[in-house]
Amino acid sequence: MVCLATLAFFLLISPDYFQAAPQTDTHGIVVGDMDRNVKPGDDFFTYAVGDWVKRTEIPPDRAAVGPSSVLDDLSNKRTSELIEHAAKSTAQAGSNLRKIADLYNSYMDEAAIESKGLAPLRPHLDAIAAIQDKHQLAYVLGKTLRTDVDALNNTNFHTANLFGLWVAPDFNDSEHYTAYILQGGLQLPDREYYLANSEEMRGVRRAYLAHVAAMLKLAGFSDTDERAKRIVELEHAIAEKHTSLADNEDIHRANNPWSQADFSAKAPGVDWAEYFRGAGLSKQEKFIVWQPTAFTAESALVASTPLEAWKDWLAYHLIESMAGVLPKPLAEERFAFFGKTLTGTEQQRPRWQRGVGLVNTFLGDAVGQIYAQKYFPPEAKAQVQAMVANLIEAFRKRIDALTWMDPATKAEAKTKLSALYVGVGYSDSWKDYSGYEVKPDDIFGNIWRAQLFDYQRDLARLGKPIDRKEWSMTPQTVNAVNLPLQNALNFPAAILQPPFFDPKAPDVVNYGSIGAVIGHEISHTFDTEGSTFDAKGRVRDWWTPADLKHFEEATAKLAAQYDTYKPFPDLAVNGRQTLAENIADVAGLCAAYDGYRASLAGKTAPTQDGFTGDQQFFIAFGQSWAIKEREAALRQQVLTDPHAPDRYRADTVRNLDPWYPAFDLQPGDTLYLAPAERVRIW
Ligand SMILES: [Zn+2]
Repeated sequence: MVCLATLAFFLLISPDYFQAAPQTDTHGIVVGDMDRNVKPGDDFFTYAVGDWVKRTEIPPDRAAVGPSSVLDDLSNKRTSELIEHAAKSTAQAGSNLRKIADLYNSYMDEAAIESKGLAPLRPHLDAIAAIQDKHQLAYVLGKTLRTDVDALNNTNFHTANLFGLWVAPDFNDSEHYTAYILQGGLQLPDREYYLANSEEMRGVRRAYLAHVAAMLKLAGFSDTDERAKRIVELEHAIAEKHTSLADNEDIHRANNPWSQADFSAKAPGVDWAEYFRGAGLSKQEKFIVWQPTAFTAESALVASTPLEAWKDWLAYHLIESMAGVLPKPLAEERFAFFGKTLTGTEQQRPRWQRGVGLVNTFLGDAVGQIYAQKYFPPEAKAQVQAMVANLIEAFRKRIDALTWMDPATKAEAKTKLSALYVGVGYSDSWKDYSGYEVKPDDIFGNIWRAQLFDYQRDLARLGKPIDRKEWSMTPQTVNAVNLPLQNALNFPAAILQPPFFDPKAPDVVNYGSIGAVIGHEISHTFDTEGSTFDAKGRVRDWWTPADLKHFEEATAKLAAQYDTYKPFPDLAVNGRQTLAENIADVAGLCAAYDGYRASLAGKTAPTQDGFTGDQQFFIAFGQSWAIKEREAALRQQVLTDPHAPDRYRADTVRNLDPWYPAFDLQPGDTLYLAPAERVRIW
């Protein structure tokens, strides 16, 4: 699970221009960002970053700005420099550098794309046109299967192919990889787009129908209105049977092991033997079917819907999936619908930026390897690893000290903590791209082969022992992730930079910023979500019912605390919706504080600009949550995000006892909580 809301949030926004990272010679808290006219006990967020908020302007193409968006820009800038540099090099054929160059240059060569026209599509369209019956249809549908979904790590449930495959540790045998198979078949992002009855969604559907017809016409089809109607009707029928996003996220509903024979028995309609033969999975005996009802229904639709409709659907899905590297009219029609109509984005990002994104997608580790070498020295890695060790030790002591947890549960929690893999900066092993062929002037083929290469690589792992240290993010990604089936965390190099982590800053400041983020992620492995997976990543409830009950009672107080925050007179934060993340914030900050105290080994932390060690710790935490956002974006976050707005995440300092003496808090200060009101969970 990706855990920083603002980060995921910013990633959706086009990085159209690069803002330089703050250049400063000071390493530590930034006193110039603070508003010292505000009392820390009244509004800690503004005290920590008020002057920054006052002088910062939100760029016109953005919904918000904060440290993570600045780091995102920086990482994009560095990555594009690496790729552009590689693109000009004359690296040896077959080397990663040459592959980066050829992939990027083939994407940038618009003249070659135009001159080839629709030729790259032709053999694939011919194969669809040649389908004679439902057996052949099943085989061709099987050939479209890709590993393009990821249910738990990056929580991506969407594929436009009929189904999607995810190869990951088995729910029931977490030592080995298995095949999870998920519903699919829709081009629009979710079933709600087909079914919701709002005027807005009806408008989207009208525009979509016209778009499907336009794409078919541009690809040379006849009778495009009738075909488009059939395609959209088929997708609508699929959408009606899809499981909702909320249900998809409930893993207890997802653990449905099926044998190949079960598919024919429980989901009749598709010729499953042909489907699996097309997918290269004839020998795979076991699958975990994430949404059994959708499989039954989609398979029935394969039987009941005329062959011609399925062939149109296949052709249109193929054209759509490759439109970005087809001649301009197709690429532009695709953007007009999926960019402008669906997301409101007015302009496509410049081509070179999309090229950088493409290389990051298909050769991410090849770029990441150079990125890590250049921007994340071994000393920085060692420094963060030392912090992680202190934080884990802090958690261990906190678990020991808990009065409410059953001794057996404590023992399990400590086993899980000991087994936790915390990846810092970059993976110890890089993905091997030697099986991926990149040609200098064939972007269509390069993408096609990249997706097949990823797919074949995953198929080869089925049934093999898992690599718990494998990463699911590249080092150049500004984010962090919790991998529950691996009992592992990844902190990529790109987030381990100021203001989250600065190797030259005093320890106390690093503990207050990245230390709290690391603590936050660690705590997720022990919360209500984490209690579903044991030390080996197996699905097993290892908390006693009494433990869970106590946990829920203690955390209800925190939910009530967040319910009182009102960013707008008519809109309050939802304490329940944001509870899991708010718990992780308190737990993470507590562990970070303990880790920092332990790192002092009895010495007193040096002061900076008159601020004591404890003051710097809390100010650093507040500054890591700096944010300036547009009202609409903030409203949307309050309504839809599991994370509370950043300013309230900064204010969670009020739950920690040491915050009170550090800033001489008194009853009557706005954020003051009597000791009994402070929420203590771990
Ligand atoms: Zn989280």
